[in-house]
Amino acid sequence: MTIIKQNDLIDSVTDALQFMSYYHPKDYIDAVYAAWQREESDAAKDAMSQILINSRMCAEGKRPICQDTGIVTVFMRVGMDVQWDAEMNLHDMINEGVRRAYLLPDNKLRASILDDPAGKRNNTGDNTPAVIHIDIVAGDKVDIDIAAKGGGSENKSKLVMLNPSDSIVDWVVKTVPTMGAGWCPPGMLGIGIGGTAEKASVLAKESLMAPVDIQQLKDRGPANRIEELRLEIFEKVNALGIGAQGLGGLTTVVDVKIKDYPTHAASLPVAMIPNCAATRHAHVLLDGSGPYLQTPPKLEDWPAITWDAGAGSKRVNLDTITPEEVATWKTGETLLLNGRMLTGRDAAHKRIQTMLANGESLPAGVDFKNRFIYYVGPVDAVRDEAVGPAGPTTATRMDKFTEMMLAETGLLGMIGKAERGPTGIEAIKKHAAVYLMAVGGSAYLVSKAIKEARIIAFEELGMEAIHEFVVEDMPVTVAVDARGESVHQTGPALWRGKMASGEVKPVYFS
Ligand code: SF4
Repeated sequence: MTIIKQNDLIDSVTDALQFMSYYHPKDYIDAVYAAWQREESDAAKDAMSQILINSRMCAEGKRPICQDTGIVTVFMRVGMDVQWDAEMNLHDMINEGVRRAYLLPDNKLRASILDDPAGKRNNTGDNTPAVIHIDIVAGDKVDIDIAAKGGGSENKSKLVMLNPSDSIVDWVVKTVPTMGAGWCPPGMLGIGIGGTAEKASVLAKESLMAPVDIQQLKDRGPANRIEELRLEIFEKVNALGIGAQGLGGLTTVVDVKIKDYPTHAASLPVAMIPNCAATRHAHVLLDGSGPYLQTPPKLEDWPAITWDAGAGSKRVNLDTITPEEVATWKTGETLLLNGRMLTGRDAAHKRIQTMLANGESLPAGVDFKNRFIYYVGPVDAVRDEAVGPAGPTTATRMDKFTEMMLAETGLLGMIGKAERGPTGIEAIKKHAAVYLMAVGGSAYLVSKAIKEARIIAFEELGMEAIHEFVVEDMPVTVAVDARGESVHQTGPALWRGKMASGEVKPVYFS
């Protein structure tokens, strides 16, 4: 019989969540670096450079890899011979660990969890509750996989009930392009096959707790149907040419994970959940000897690559920018933004829309005329930071507000991550505006370009409040130009074509 103390579980959860907020797993860094070395698309290579450099900066500065510090997901296997020295139940202990991790003063993480999800959507303030799966298993230990899953990648999850004779590979290859780039590739696909609808989803998520090992699988060869599927899906998804951040390139996924379970004769449930550039998971093993603390990696584990933000980029002054200047920018061009911009995301847009519809004026200081809006919900600042990690959020969620913003506020351009949908692009073209993208998953790097930050409206919305940022050389790419051309359409089509025609030989393995 093993006795496990309440504080040992709480401290282990807190330590794991703080650790994963600023340390990428080494296997992911190695896989992105290998992909970076092979990449032939300049735009995708540049995005991976930013992800790798951001990762190292986070490890050095012990600050979050991404401004979205995730929803905590826990897979816990409790041995039947474990006895607890605890007053709290398991859920309360884990949530206490989450609370302490997210409120830690020296590295406060973003609280993103809202209760009453179909109603008031109030932030719980401490990122609780976690999503917790508990199994009772043989043994005298407690074995835990814990993850902090980003919302952008979780939102792209898919579930299908296929016919038993349908092809799983065909469904995956058809479905991945519909997910756009809001899941911040390069990442992993987690696939659950079998069971029931909910079992397949849990399997898909659980499969993402394993390290990247597709190269080892390729080297030793597949031993069963599931491993054959992993390799086939890996090659076919990469051949889609989506590339890092959806900019077009050779690597979209660095691994494909699959877990399966027996299913009904009439069914073939398949769930697919992508994991993003902010891959965050850790393992905890409690054996009664005290808390399980993570071992920090060495800084030498990060590749020594350099990235010159200024190379080939155009400097732009946001304080004097005109519609005429914006109209000269072309899709794929890289810019360095300087000057003042406003921020706003889902809740702020909804409130602006309601105020304008009611004939109300926007709050003092909120003037979008000839300005840019950055779709971001930053982490709170610590120490001497102007703002905490502040990477872009998924722009498609703002598509439905874009016509209103461009037509009624005089907004000139938007900055976010990933592609725009047809409604957003139509509005951009109609108003000869522009959409710029920053790299999702390089939030700490982006935040270093933000020199001043202050909240100017809707403070009660927390991280969704409207801020004014003063930026210096903030790197972005023109993703939709004033003519409505989208790099997320042209880039993947170009690289898919190059690979299909043999002009570029896809090299996925060493
Ligand atoms: S890397 Fe992208 S999807 Fe992942 S947490 Fe950050 S913004 Fe969200």
